[in-house]
Amino acid sequence: MFNPNDIREQFPILDSKVYGRPLIYLDNAATTQKPRCVIDAISEAYCTINANVHRGVHHLSQVATERFEEARRTVRRFINAPDSRQIIFTRGTTESINLIASSFGDTFLKEGDQVIISTMEHHSNIVPWQLLRERIGIEIKIIPLKADATLDVEAYKELFTERTRLVSLTHVSNVLGCTNPVKECIDIAHSHGVPILIDGAQSTPHIKVDVQALDADFFVFSGHKMYGPTGIGVLYGKEQWLEQMQPYHGGGEMIQTVKFEKTTFNELPYKFEAGTPDYIGAIALGKAIEFIEHVGIENIAAHEHSLTQYALERLSEVDNMRIIGCPDGSAVSLLVGDIHPADLGTLLDRLGIAIRTGHHCAQPLIDHLGIPGTVRASFALYNTKDEVDILVEGIKRVARMFA
Ligand code: PMP
Repeated sequence: MFNPNDIREQFPILDSKVYGRPLIYLDNAATTQKPRCVIDAISEAYCTINANVHRGVHHLSQVATERFEEARRTVRRFINAPDSRQIIFTRGTTESINLIASSFGDTFLKEGDQVIISTMEHHSNIVPWQLLRERIGIEIKIIPLKADATLDVEAYKELFTERTRLVSLTHVSNVLGCTNPVKECIDIAHSHGVPILIDGAQSTPHIKVDVQALDADFFVFSGHKMYGPTGIGVLYGKEQWLEQMQPYHGGGEMIQTVKFEKTTFNELPYKFEAGTPDYIGAIALGKAIEFIEHVGIENIAAHEHSLTQYALERLSEVDNMRIIGCPDGSAVSLLVGDIHPADLGTLLDRLGIAIRTGHHCAQPLIDHLGIPGTVRASFALYNTKDEVDILVEGIKRVARMFA
């Protein structure tokens, strides 16, 4: 087990003061802070190896290309993908899902076909399917939640028909903080012969992901939520789908030959990486993964789990506290009496506490719960029990002001 206080020293921003108070950063589900090694990797890459990848015979381009491809191999190892060809660099979870909706949609779906998503999806796993619905007339079916706001797996089983073509489901909810039984959901989809996409934006930073053990057809995540830079993310897919899927963007890199009459496309993964990729971002993401592997994802999971349990315990001291959902990971959503989440968040901010308030890009879920939004504290490996104490005291203080 690691000591979060040692870890904190590696994150320069955690020394910041906000309104003269030490920063208490509890908005990690939105984005995590970056360790010095990741920040340095970006600077080092620009200072020493910067050149466009896959383009040049010259030395620097070859070194940059090798480092970029090494990052791809690091990602492959991290999620235990069978082959680096199945690792496509994107801008993040949102772009990865849009890519699948567009390319899988254009290749395999037609009017009247059905895609299953759930009530607890992030907008990035709702809107791309709606755009596809506008474009080709697919039907979107929604997995309901049980009374405790967990996924209704029995109802999910009933949604399959002979027109179901894809399931797209979040691994961990960014609002409810619960981990969905994705392995079970994947097996159910496969028993109907239907492929399934897992949104790993909120799981990959916190728990061990093994795409082969899960048997997910697609798995997507964002670098910035796992100590890596912004603007880089990953799409993993089974070759049987990726090989058949049409390209997403057209341009340089994704082609084999271009003639005005006809273009042939590059092999995987380049077919889906049109244009100059964010190779510096990918290299820095590789460094973030090495950082996680060095600390140990199991250690990170255990630490965050114990912080969440401690937070739930301490929060129960607050009058009129409502925990929203069944958090089992590293994020806790709550409401206190009828204090509006935005008011609670604004006043906590004055105490130096950064938490997220609002609908968390999951408006249909918030509407379903019939609440104005939530206040969400989300933890990372550098958070401490002392910070949880400060959060709880802060919430109590705000509650007293409203009493
Ligand atoms: N899915 C989930 C579950 C998320 O929490 C988020 C980010 N809040 C996203 C998708 C979108 O990620 P990004 O903005 O990095 O593309």
